[in-house]
Amino acid sequence: MAAYQCPVCDYVYDELKGAPREGFPAGTAWDSVPDDWCCPDCGVREKIDFERTA
Ligand SMILES: [Zn+2]
Repeated sequence: MAAYQCPVCDYVYDELKGAPREGFPAGTAWDSVPDDWCCPDCGVREKIDFERTA
């Protein structure tokens, strides 16, 4: 499991936690997140722009 951070804001997608409000339950792998998914906090950056943090 890994976590990925938005390069613009402080939002982090943690595979362990998922993003339930976005429709991704806890444990959802990053690979399962659509490539056109946007950061839910800033809405500026897409998945491909996120940087792996751990
Ligand atoms: Zn963001």
